[in-house]
Amino acid sequence: TATSRIPEKWVKTTCGYCSVGCGMLLGVKDNKAVAVRGNPDHPVNRGKLCPKGLSEHHILESPGRAKQPLLRKNGVLTPVSWDEALDTMVERLRDIQSRYGNESLGVVGTGQLLTEEFYTLGKLVQLGFRTRNHDGNTTLCMASAVSGYKLSFGSDGPPGSYADMEQADLILLIGANIADNHPILCHRVDRSPGTKPRKLIVVDPRVTKTAMMADLHLAIKPRGDIALINGIAHILIREGLIDRDYIALHTNGFEEFAAYVATFTPAHVASITGLTEAQITETALLYGRAKAAFIGWTMGVNHSTQGAVTVTAINNLALITGNIGRTGAAPFSITGQCNAMGTRESGFTSSLPGYRKFDNPQDREDLAHIWNIPVDRIPTARGLAYPDIIEAAVQGRVKALWFIATNPAVSFPNYKLVEQALQSVEFLVVQDGFHPTPTSDFAHLVLPAAIWGEKEGTYTNSERRVSKANPAVRPPGEARPDFDIFLDLAEKLGVRQELYPNWHTPHDAYQEWQRVSAGRMCDYSKFSWQQIDEANGIQWGGESLYRDGIFPTPDGRAKLHLVPCDPFIEQPDAEYDFILNTGRTVEHWHTRTKTAEVELLNDMVPNAWLEINPYDATRLELKPHDRVTVHSRRGAVADLELRITGIVAPGQVFMPFHFAETNSNIVTLGSFDPISREPNFKQCAVRIERTPMR
Ligand code: SF4
Repeated sequence: TATSRIPEKWVKTTCGYCSVGCGMLLGVKDNKAVAVRGNPDHPVNRGKLCPKGLSEHHILESPGRAKQPLLRKNGVLTPVSWDEALDTMVERLRDIQSRYGNESLGVVGTGQLLTEEFYTLGKLVQLGFRTRNHDGNTTLCMASAVSGYKLSFGSDGPPGSYADMEQADLILLIGANIADNHPILCHRVDRSPGTKPRKLIVVDPRVTKTAMMADLHLAIKPRGDIALINGIAHILIREGLIDRDYIALHTNGFEEFAAYVATFTPAHVASITGLTEAQITETALLYGRAKAAFIGWTMGVNHSTQGAVTVTAINNLALITGNIGRTGAAPFSITGQCNAMGTRESGFTSSLPGYRKFDNPQDREDLAHIWNIPVDRIPTARGLAYPDIIEAAVQGRVKALWFIATNPAVSFPNYKLVEQALQSVEFLVVQDGFHPTPTSDFAHLVLPAAIWGEKEGTYTNSERRVSKANPAVRPPGEARPDFDIFLDLAEKLGVRQELYPNWHTPHDAYQEWQRVSAGRMCDYSKFSWQQIDEANGIQWGGESLYRDGIFPTPDGRAKLHLVPCDPFIEQPDAEYDFILNTGRTVEHWHTRTKTAEVELLNDMVPNAWLEINPYDATRLELKPHDRVTVHSRRGAVADLELRITGIVAPGQVFMPFHFAETNSNIVTLGSFDPISREPNFKQCAVRIERTPMR
């Protein structure tokens, strides 16, 4: 009844889905989460929530929750005690490592973990299990932004804030469909009467909901972004719309850069991008004449074999116009998962905790001192990135895999490859809040984990705001917080006292993380859990980084990069004549392990679909709602509902990637950015056929 759903108390917390980082209040009655509402005092969302946030409490008691440890015995996943599960895990991993070497273990964590958990996991994997092959699933979404920031500025860290979007004269969104992926951010681009007058330009091959909000939509050809950005730089320089003082004081490489982009004339860029010269020029002039210009991007940029260098091209624009380090101006990567940023900062993956570098002796000395361990325990180079862990498993170099709150059987590109990896390892551990999942179906051991709403720690959002996640209810069955699982594993490995002296709660991890990050760019020592909670989140670095124009590079200057625009790898041809683009819808999250459990969201969007332009539908004699199959050189996805729409351009098709039953990654291409190792999810060649009637 309605009365039974009236909460006895409201627990302040932070949304556990996306990186916008909305503050929320979770209503509880009789240890059940019965309601959710936006926290009106939270500066990110000011009381608003999107459909996922508004229904988030439903995931806590959903039937799909993993409730007990399961060990495969005689081919069947069989309930066991936690002791047996963790003893077996340590025994099997030790045995495999003793036979094949420490690096025969690969571990993939996630941006769904709290910072305290990810920090704890990094130490456990690298110092306890002594393998460097540790990465986050964030490599599937954010690695290109990380690499691009490091290349341009010397360090990761989005330099701006959401508030900049409201203060900018121009917002340029490139490959960022915030209306579906970061819905609450749409309020920051509101241009209704009473708001600061400003323009919105959206660069996207599709007419997304975000593109529909734009003053100018640039329906660019896939992978035309680098040519466009270089072309904008060319016009800015030609028209004198650059900040020569900023360039002289704070950057390196301008002369070479100017000579390089000189060839990107509007006519040349138009021939690559499919845009008109007038559109390209108008965009450049609007950007160059804006007093403060903000560029935001997400997966349209990152999900590419040229993702990292595309990010440097974006950074170039900000640097030559001085649109960085001041209010309203920033090159801003909008992150994906609720704690993608926290894992980037505290992780032990592509860098050492606190943005320290593996190859910097002082950085390693610092950590060894804080951790009270010999410095030679800290690796001098990173191990394998996520895609390389998968490839090593296929090749037999990695013999054991441990996935934590991630679902590669749906989310990893080129399904056949990941299926081979999951089948070929000697021991596969899946630690997740949900079971069965397409990945846990392959597991030898399933560890049931607590999720958002059941555990305590911090998330850091896209604008570097650290917010508190608080437990409101107990986990179901025998599920346990990931933090507790990690400490128990450390105990069984015999490293608990060495790595985690006197630790009992995530707060102990936070206190050590404060010491590790003290004095670093991402300095958490300046605020306690209590202060974060009371303030509804605190941004490390303030609203803008690099206000003084000093960058964390050896000479304090940022670097301008020369970025070539290479065609994407698998071009359409006579046999596979469409370019497939993949993406999301607002109602679902990643591989739907969570949102498939929410009836409301499933009712709104129960199945995947394929979008095709009317011109192509007519050519192929297809009608609305026909069932179609997408074929690529890697496989086929059948039985997609056809949507005939001008949202996609002729020659292009689009499908969402959320659905395991119609897994887009059966057809996507397993190719990766050579710098960031991020996959190219956005372009591959496919053929469309009507699905035969059964
Ligand atoms: Fe949660 Fe993101 Fe929606 Fe905010 S916008 S409620 S953080 S999913």
